[in-house]
Amino acid sequence: MAGSVGQSLRATTQRLKGKKNGGKGKNKSSKKARKEMLYGILNEKNIKQIQFGVSKRFPTWYGSAVYFDPETKRLGCSESKSQLCSNFNDQYWLETLFVCEYCFKYTDNRARFVVHAAVCPFQYRAPGKIKYKSPEYTIRRVKGSKYQLFCQCLCLFTKLFLDNKSMYFKVDHYEFYIVYENGSAKPMGFFSKDLVSYQQNNLACVLTFPPYQRRGLGLLLIEFSYKLSQLEGVISGPEVPLSPFGLIGYLKYWSQILCWHLIEGDLAHCDKVSLEDLSIVTGMRVSDIILTLKHLNCIGENNQIYLQSLSTWLKSHGTKGNWFKLQDEYLLIDD
Ligand SMILES: [Zn+2]
Repeated sequence: MAGSVGQSLRATTQRLKGKKNGGKGKNKSSKKARKEMLYGILNEKNIKQIQFGVSKRFPTWYGSAVYFDPETKRLGCSESKSQLCSNFNDQYWLETLFVCEYCFKYTDNRARFVVHAAVCPFQYRAPGKIKYKSPEYTIRRVKGSKYQLFCQCLCLFTKLFLDNKSMYFKVDHYEFYIVYENGSAKPMGFFSKDLVSYQQNNLACVLTFPPYQRRGLGLLLIEFSYKLSQLEGVISGPEVPLSPFGLIGYLKYWSQILCWHLIEGDLAHCDKVSLEDLSIVTGMRVSDIILTLKHLNCIGENNQIYLQSLSTWLKSHGTKGNWFKLQDEYLLIDD
């Protein structure tokens, strides 16, 4: 089983260094090309599908060059050259990438994958420390510095489903919060967080893996990210710019939170509510609050909030009492 991303990362880094030294004074397009190569950005899909564990198969959403040797377009970490890219064609560099659903190690060789799937140690013990445990879900904090290979492989996998950049070679600078169903060691989704964020971001990137979407796990993770920053005593939000899917998810979460505080929560009986009041009770940035209220058509000139419009919106988008996915009583945050 492959998964030593170091080889492909080294190849990419060396190539970048070479270009940098020889490319002084070159135009913007070469700078853009270097950046795109660094993040593995491609304009089209290059892996047709993922075999995720033994029983799940689904198409990729975006292309990514970082799995591959930049010169040969072959999987950068494979030990067996005869197995490489046997089904290479004009569009796809690889037909099927086999990815372990416990540890995200990968290969293009089915036989190796089957052997690994039977012995992967992560199927018996998920990494990291439990930070949330409800009757349904567990969220674990996995430090990039401690589980470097796991986190690198997770980031590489993520790039196939997120169109914005995600860092994969500086995982030491991040911690990852990964959600599992209780009793299972299969990651269902995650968010990453900078250890040091000068913009006070509480989330770098968030993804629910394709087999586990439409369960509200994205909202659970976003809610958890705000809970962490509120416990740290900071007004916070996600790293921007958000991807189009990210923005949809956030607007849904922000709308619910603002509606709850203004209609059901602490601010429900206040005659006048300022954006700063909302920021304090929600932990949201004022800029994100304004964006959401505009999205809801509930803000006028001088930032006046129209509560009546908010009630109308709520009636048509009712949450049926399920305001929150996260329940405070199940938090296990002791450090
Ligand atoms: Zn594995």
